[in-house]
Amino acid sequence: MKDQKFIGAHVSAAGGVENAPLRAYEIGANAFALFTKNQRQWQAKPLLQSSIRAFQENCRRYGFEPQHILPHDSYLINLGAPEAEKLEKSRNAFVDEMERCRMLGLRLLNFHPGSHLNQISEEECLAKIADSINLAHQQVPDVIAVIENTAGQGSNLGWRFEHLARIIELVDDQERVGVCLDTCHLFAAGYDLRTEEACQQTFHEFDQRVGMHYLRAMHLNDSKIELGGLVDRHHSLGQGKIGWSCFEYIAQDTRFNGIPLILETIQPDLWPDEIQSLRDYASGVAETK
Ligand SMILES: [Zn+2]
Ligand SMILES: [Zn+2]
Repeated sequence: MKDQKFIGAHVSAAGGVENAPLRAYEIGANAFALFTKNQRQWQAKPLLQSSIRAFQENCRRYGFEPQHILPHDSYLINLGAPEAEKLEKSRNAFVDEMERCRMLGLRLLNFHPGSHLNQISEEECLAKIADSINLAHQQVPDVIAVIENTAGQGSNLGWRFEHLARIIELVDDQERVGVCLDTCHLFAAGYDLRTEEACQQTFHEFDQRVGMHYLRAMHLNDSKIELGGLVDRHHSLGQGKIGWSCFEYIAQDTRFNGIPLILETIQPDLWPDEIQSLRDYASGVAETK
């Protein structure tokens, strides 16, 4: 039977983006995430043609398809920035990130929505974020803007489903906007995932407020922080406050088929085991932990 669950991790692109598919293959992944440039710097050299070719060759060789690869943008970008200068810098950098994805033949770009920095209202900030997405859509074809839910730390928006829904509502081309739900961020934001019933309730609420059809990817992380703690601290699967039943639920529920399910857990040496455990749950081999 063909794989329906696409599971991987956020792997290093050190030495060039073309190295990421090999690293993902080595941990037993059939999906992966990466940064296409240094995530802590504004500027990056354009991707070399040779690097793009090697990336695509390696993806083919190791069996990765573009829809299962989830590039993540730079942490510096704030698409809802209150100040005009910072906003423009962020928008330009975001367009560059989107263009890099397009050049690599990729279709998804995962990003954190933005922060109001206590200088503008939530609504103003959400409108700026949506405008930023619209501007990027106008400049770069094909690539889908995948909004990640956040933990609600500081003045970051995107931790309530209502925020995600409002941004999507204000985007002109809704075919090219989606959501990546991070389980650690969900939990930190107060959405319970500790039991099957809690997962059912949380994803039902997501479906009601946003719509499951917008779900383009997941980040699978346990949390060091208690429910509703509004702090972003990832943990390895089963070692944090969420526990295995959430990840078993996602592995078994067909609504999470066909999209990248990406680990950003804190012990990369455990990634092969975490991926295998998720596969065992998906195929019904594993006993409930
Ligand atoms: Zn993220
Ligand atoms: Zn994440």
